[in-house]
Amino acid sequence: MSTIEATSLTKTFGSFTAVRDVDMSVGEGEVVCLLGPSGCGKTTTLRMIAGLESVTEGEVKIGGRVMNRLPPEKRDIAMVFQFYALYPSVSIGGNIEMPLYHLGLSAEERGREVARVAEILQLGEVLERLPGQLSEGEKQRAAVARAIVRDPNCFLFDEPLSRLDVEQRHSMRGQIKEVLSGLSKATVIVTHDQMEALTMANRIAIMRDGMIEQIGTPHEVFSQPRNVFVAGFIGSPKMNLLDGRLSTIKDGKATIELGADNVVFPVPAAAEALVGSHLTIGIRPRALEPVDSPSERSLTGQVELIEPMGAETLVHVRDEDERDLRVVLPRERKVAPGEVLHLACDLTQTHIFDDSGLAVR
Ligand code: ATP
Repeated sequence: MSTIEATSLTKTFGSFTAVRDVDMSVGEGEVVCLLGPSGCGKTTTLRMIAGLESVTEGEVKIGGRVMNRLPPEKRDIAMVFQFYALYPSVSIGGNIEMPLYHLGLSAEERGREVARVAEILQLGEVLERLPGQLSEGEKQRAAVARAIVRDPNCFLFDEPLSRLDVEQRHSMRGQIKEVLSGLSKATVIVTHDQMEALTMANRIAIMRDGMIEQIGTPHEVFSQPRNVFVAGFIGSPKMNLLDGRLSTIKDGKATIELGADNVVFPVPAAAEALVGSHLTIGIRPRALEPVDSPSERSLTGQVELIEPMGAETLVHVRDEDERDLRVVLPRERKVAPGEVLHLACDLTQTHIFDDSGLAVR
């Protein structure tokens, strides 16, 4: 059974708590990405699962068995690190074959296994070469091949693509995803790159200060962020997060004072209790659209900066309260610096957070 479970996982270094009460379960064939800013505890969590770091409190189970006291080599896992250590004087084929030596296979069986994974990772042409004669992308694929060749129970990846250039990362993301989907193993990938997480993961665990802020499918964490931190972290360009005050609710619609603009939003019943209190309104940059005249769901400001992004343009609009609104427009929609824009909010893509930062639903 290829599963990974972490229960109340905690790690302290002296008086510092690097990981606090992490609960996470990874099912058979599932890929979970740990995503978060530098120092939030992603690698420490992965290292506890691997057995490279002791567990201060809590439990790690792999395949249903408690692993807390077992060394890494007894956990039946394979790890791929950012710094993949291929032996420089051994051919790529030899490097991939190495983990098979302990399994008592014949030379012929080993050769068959190497050929099998070389085909999966498109390394057939380079098996005779030394690591120094490979591109970074090929070396990365060789490291993955070496990890999967002995058919371990689970996979752990720590920033596997961070040494590759942008183009290689893009293609390796797809390749790793495809390889993993054919293997039906529980997999945890640590990354600080949200595109990597959004494309490779079945579920994403977003961490901050040693804790998981939200765990869910890429769609869930993007479209239903649990709190302001997740809302601001996921999505590019970043969600606009505006301070406001809920002044009234009438017929299920709330008037929210956003500085100079009053915007009327449909609100969930839970918002009734928040009348009079401060809120944060989250509006994605693609949920703002220029309209001819102001309305009860528009914000007004002046174009300050225009950044072409290929098919789209990122426009920074400064509103009357000196706030920077990020707006993404199709490239064909031309705007000029200094132009006044009325921006209608797509209310299906706006989020309301209470004064403690939690989403109001
Ligand atoms: P990054 O993305 O920068 O790799 P991370 O999210 O993987 O960060 P960790 O490496 O897990 O973060 O570190 C979490 C915190 O624990 C950091 O503040 C780090 O300095 C601290 N830490 C990690 N290892 C040790 C250690 N052996 N002793 C003391 N503190 C440590």
